[in-house]
Amino acid sequence: MKQPKLDVFNQMESEVRSYCRSFQTVFNKASNALLWDKHHKAYIDFFAGAGALNYGHNNPRIREKLVQYLLEDGVTHSLDMATEAKERFLLQFNNLILKPRSMSYKVMFPGPTGTNAVESALKIARKVTGRTNIICFTNAFHGMSLGSLSATGNSFKRKGAGVTLGNTTFMPYDQYFGSSIDTAAMLEKMLDDPGSGIDKPAAVLLETLQGEGGLNSASQAWLQSIEKICRKHDMLLIVDDVQMGCGRTGSFFSFEDAKIEPDLICLSKSIGGYGLPMALTLIKPKYDQWEPGEHNGTFRGNNLGFVAASEALTYWSDPDFTSQISKKSKILHDFLARMAKTYPKEIQEVRGKGFIQGLAFVEPSHAGKLSAEAFERGVIMETSGPRDEVAKIMPPLTIEEKLLHEGLERIEEALQAMFS
Ligand code: PMP
Repeated sequence: MKQPKLDVFNQMESEVRSYCRSFQTVFNKASNALLWDKHHKAYIDFFAGAGALNYGHNNPRIREKLVQYLLEDGVTHSLDMATEAKERFLLQFNNLILKPRSMSYKVMFPGPTGTNAVESALKIARKVTGRTNIICFTNAFHGMSLGSLSATGNSFKRKGAGVTLGNTTFMPYDQYFGSSIDTAAMLEKMLDDPGSGIDKPAAVLLETLQGEGGLNSASQAWLQSIEKICRKHDMLLIVDDVQMGCGRTGSFFSFEDAKIEPDLICLSKSIGGYGLPMALTLIKPKYDQWEPGEHNGTFRGNNLGFVAASEALTYWSDPDFTSQISKKSKILHDFLARMAKTYPKEIQEVRGKGFIQGLAFVEPSHAGKLSAEAFERGVIMETSGPRDEVAKIMPPLTIEEKLLHEGLERIEEALQAMFS
C-alpha cells in the first residue's frame, strides 16, 4: 500500500499504518460546508463524506438535539432493545418519509454501515427465494464485505478479497454500450433463454446512479424495464440508495421520479443525519421473513444516530429545502456544462444528476489532477469511475449558495491552471 507523505505519519513513533485520502493535512474543525485544518486554512467541502454529510458538518439544529439528549442521560447504546429515541425515529421515518410517498416497508437496522444494509438485503433475497444468484451491474459499488464486494464491479477492490464469492452475474448497466443497445432488453432476453447459462436469480441489485463507478445514471425507462423483468421472473428488486438516497439526487429516494417500487431498499450515509454510523434496510412486508436473531449485531441501533436522524428528517417536510436543492443543482450543472464547452478537447462530458455531478475527462489522470489543484485552492473533491476519470462534486445539500459559487470559481481557476 502506498503511504502518503503526511507529516503526522512521519512524526508518529510507531509504524502506524493508516489508509488516508490524498488530502495532505490534518483537519480539526468543520461547519456546514467548510472544513478547517490545524493550520487554520479553510476548505470548501465538495465531498460531504461521500454523501454522509448531506445536512452539513455540525448542523446546529441536529447538534442541539444531540447535546440535549446527552445532557439528559439519554440511552446511547441498547443493542436492538427499543428506546424512546428509536421509537421517535421510526415514527418520524414513517410520518415524514414513507407515508407521504404511500410507501409501506418494514424498517430493519442491519448494522452501522451501508455495506451492512446491502449484505442484509442480499441475505433476505436469498432466503425468501431459496435461490443464490444475484444480478448486478458493470461499475456497481455496493460495499466491502464479501457479499457486497462480490456484487461490486471494480477489479481493483475485488482483488483485495483474493477470491470473491460466486453467485453473482454481472450485466451491462444502462448506456454501457452507449444509447444504441438496450441493456434491459439484453437482460430480459438472457433470462428468458434457457440456454443463456444464467442461474435463475434471487434478485437484481442496482444503484440508480453509480456514485463510485463514474456517475453513470440509469434512465427512468431503464429502471422501469428492470422492475418489469423482476416481476416477470419473480426476482426481488434491490435498490442500493446508500449514496444516492437522503436527497442527493433531489428527492429523498433516488428512484422516486422513475416511480418504481423496490422490494428492498438500502440506506445509510446521510440517514444518520450528523455523519453518525447508521443504516436501514427497508423490506416490503411480505419479505420480512427473518426470525429474531437470524441477523443481528452489536451496533444495530445507534441511539445518537436515531436522535440526529429524527431531526434531519424534518428537513423533508420543508418544501423550501427541496426547491433549494434543485436550485443549487442547476447552478452546479450550468457551471459544469460551461466548463465542458470551454475545454471540449479535455472534458468528455458532464455526468450525474441533482447535487452529485462531475466532469468525465478524456485523459483519466486529469480528474485526480483537478482534485489536487482544487485542494491547493481550498476545495475538497474526489474522483470516481473505474479509471478515476471523473471529478466528482457533491457538496452538503445545505451549502450556502454563495459558498457554492466560490467553490466553483476555484475549480474554474484550477481548470485554467491545468489547460490554459
Ligand atoms: N453502496 C453504495 C452505493 C455506496 O456508495 C457505498 C459507500 N460508498 C456503500 C454501499 C458502502 O457503504 P459503507 O462504506 O458505509 O459500508
